[in-house]
Amino acid sequence: MIRNELVDSFGRVHDYLRISVTDRCNLRCVYCMPAEGMEFEPDENILSFEEITEVVRVLAEMGVKKVRLTGGEPLVRKGIENLVRSLSAIPGIEDIALTTNGIFLARKAATLKEAGVNRVNISLDTLKADRFSLITRGGDVQRVLDSIAACQQVGIDPIKLNVVLMKGINDDEIDDFLRLTIDSSLQVRFIEYMPIGHNDMRWKQSYLPLSAVLERCEQMEWKVEESKNVRGNGPAQTFRIAGAKGSFGLIHPVSDHFCETCNRLRLTADGNIKPCLYWSDEFNVRKHIGNDEAVRELFFRALRIKPRNHEMAKALVGEGQSHVPTVRRMSQIGG
Ligand code: SAM
Ligand code: SF4
Repeated sequence: MIRNELVDSFGRVHDYLRISVTDRCNLRCVYCMPAEGMEFEPDENILSFEEITEVVRVLAEMGVKKVRLTGGEPLVRKGIENLVRSLSAIPGIEDIALTTNGIFLARKAATLKEAGVNRVNISLDTLKADRFSLITRGGDVQRVLDSIAACQQVGIDPIKLNVVLMKGINDDEIDDFLRLTIDSSLQVRFIEYMPIGHNDMRWKQSYLPLSAVLERCEQMEWKVEESKNVRGNGPAQTFRIAGAKGSFGLIHPVSDHFCETCNRLRLTADGNIKPCLYWSDEFNVRKHIGNDEAVRELFFRALRIKPRNHEMAKALVGEGQSHVPTVRRMSQIGG
C-alpha cells in the first residue's frame, strides 16, 4: 500500500483533483472567453478518457478521493458518462462531481447519475433570459432551469448554483438568488469575479467584493446564520437564511483568499498538472502516463513548488506578485 503523500511544503493534504476534460465550450461567457478568436487545442492534444483514468488511478493510490469534471464545458465531450463510469470503478474514488453550464444537462442528468455523478455545480449568473443571453453570448436560460429541475427529479444532491457576481451586471439579482434557497435545498454560491486570463479593464470595472451579499441580507432584514455542516462546501463560507431549506456560500478568492486550506490539484485538458489555479507553473504529465512512478514523481514536484497563496488581490491594486500569473483562460483551467 502506497502512503498518502500528496502533501505540499505547507502541510496541506491534497485529496481532490479537478479535471478539465475539454477546453471547448458551447457558450462564450464574457468573464471567461473572448467573443471571437479563441484558439482551441487540436483533438490529438486532449487527454483521452483512458489517459485521464490512468492518472486518477495513480492518484487514488496516493489519497485522492474526490474528482470534479469541468472544462470548457464537460458535456460537449462525447460519451462523458463513460469516463464517469471508469472513474467510479477506481478503488478509493468516493466522490465524482461535475461543473457545467447546464445547457446540455437536462437530457443527460439520469445517465450521469447512474454512471456515478453524485453532485453538480451549475453556473447561472442571472435568472433573466435577456441578461443570460448577453452574459453567455447567446445562451438560453430556460435550458439551465430545465436542467436544474431534471437534476432534482433524478435525485442529484447537492445541486449548487455558481453565480459570478459582477458590479452593474447582475448585482441587482442577489435577493432573487437568495430567495431560491428559501423553499428548495439548492445551494447558491456567489463567486468573486477573478482576474484570470482576460481583459483587465472589464475585470476592474465589474469586480465586486462579496461583502455586498451580506449587506443585502441586512437590508432585507433576513436573519442569516453561518452553517458549518453543509456537504461539500469546499472553499465557500456557508450561510443559511433562518428557516430556509437551502443555503448560500461566498467564495471570495480575491478579497479574502481561501488558500490556507487548499486541498486541490488541477489537470488541464492537454495533460498539465496545475498546482495552483492562478499561477503559470505547469507540469506535463501526459508523456509519463503508463509509468506510475514517473507520474507520482511529477505530482510530488508540482506540490513542492505550490505557493502558499495566489495573491490575486495584488492584481486589484497593481502590486508586484511573487510568481508569474497564468496566461491561460478560465475555460482552459476549469475554474
Ligand atoms: N463550463 C462550465 C461552467 O461554466 O460551469 C465549467 C467550466 S467554468 C470555467 C467553471 C467555473 O468558472 C464556472 O462556474 C464559471 O462561472 C467560473 N468562472 C469562469 N471565469 C471566471 C472568472 N473570471 N471569475 C470567476 N469565476 C469564473
Ligand atoms: Fe464556457 Fe463555462 Fe467559460 Fe462560460 S464559464 S464560457 S460556460 S467554460
